[in-house]
Amino acid sequence: MKKQPMRTCVMCRQKREKRELVRIVRTPEGEIKFDPTGKANGRGCYICTGEECLASVKNAARISRALDVQADREELNRVFEEITSYVNQGTKGEK
Ligand SMILES: [Zn+2]
Repeated sequence: MKKQPMRTCVMCRQKREKRELVRIVRTPEGEIKFDPTGKANGRGCYICTGEECLASVKNAARISRALDVQADREELNRVFEEITSYVNQGTKGEK
């Protein structure tokens, strides 16, 4: 069996397979973005898609620390919405 790459969720600190996590990236321009490809340039952090960790995306202090940037609340709300709809799409697609 092929070994999956593991990543640590910056919120709960649990190691999971990469595909169970979503990546948030700080672009070279200093913006914070959801990175659905996992390949965007910049400093990234991973969070798992559990409800609690997802909600923590709106916690500016934690994201700021993880990405070493001053995160702004509006920006994080937008990222949270993007990830939420991405995650929901994934589960609804099986219908
Ligand atoms: Zn987590």
